[in-house]
Amino acid sequence: MSTKECIFCKIIRGESEGYIVFEDDISLAFLDIRPLNPGHCLLVPKEHYETLMDIPEELIGPLFKNAKLISRAIELGLAVQGIFVGINNRVSQSVPHLHIHIVPRNKNDGLKGFFWPRYSYKDRETILEIQDKIKKAIERLLV
Ligand code: AMP
Repeated sequence: MSTKECIFCKIIRGESEGYIVFEDDISLAFLDIRPLNPGHCLLVPKEHYETLMDIPEELIGPLFKNAKLISRAIELGLAVQGIFVGINNRVSQSVPHLHIHIVPRNKNDGLKGFFWPRYSYKDRETILEIQDKIKKAIERLLV
């Protein structure tokens, strides 16, 4: 797939709407539009690489440092008990642009194995509220 057609490249370029919670030189994080739990984020490298196996070594440290920051921000901003971090590589990967799922978790939240139910946000206001909470938590963590 070319970067022209890639939905995540479009969000990175600002051509498609993304509920962005974090951005730096190498990566962007935004809310998953069909979350496993409210606040489910996707962290993507700005360069188009398909899988974890494709990215240059020097990106791994900075990218996972940001995954840690966003995980801490979700815990802090949304007051959840834990975080799931995962990457589908090719199999079960519906968008061929590397993305790290960062998912808020609580005990007994109904997520079981990899056959997790999805739901839609109630409305745009709810989306904006959660986006704001995570962004503010990131700002606090970066001070
Ligand atoms: P995967 O199935 O691991 O490739 O995950 C792709 C994720 O991207 C899914 O959880 C989708 O809900 C999410 N997704 C697809 N399109 C968009 C979009 N335009 N904005 C935000 N999330 C998206």
